[in-house]
Amino acid sequence: MRDFPSTFPRSRMEFSNTAKARGIKNTCPDDLLPGLIDLAWTLDSIEKALKVRYGEKAKLDINCAYRCEQLNAAVGGSPTSAHKKGRAADITCNACSPYDLAVFIFKMGINHDQIIQEFGRWVHVGMAEHPRKQALTARKINGKTVYLQGLMPV
Ligand SMILES: [Zn+2]
Repeated sequence: MRDFPSTFPRSRMEFSNTAKARGIKNTCPDDLLPGLIDLAWTLDSIEKALKVRYGEKAKLDINCAYRCEQLNAAVGGSPTSAHKKGRAADITCNACSPYDLAVFIFKMGINHDQIIQEFGRWVHVGMAEHPRKQALTARKINGKTVYLQGLMPV
């Protein structure tokens, strides 16, 4: 099994502010590690491409990637969330908007399962064995999260 890239080490892929604040031990189980490592390498390739496009200072920040059951519940994640399988990351880039980032990743062709522009605040990148190649925009409408087809600004 290959290791995590130096840019996205295991510690980053398991980090979450919510987990830290609530004392949740967010450790990816061994059987899910290969998927989490693949995801880390995908993020590495996205960041490399962003540096080519926006310059060396461009970087990705991860809000969270892997989520254990307890953390997923704490952040109100879907029970079937790809985060629980270590196959999804919520990310932002310091060089462009979440919308621009979502479009950028979509155009890269990373064989994604889902790219979701979420509330104009971050991008969800999900991978899967049988990728659905979905591109969605999440919005709050009357307090409910609605997923619209396609990538749209905010
Ligand atoms: Zn997500």
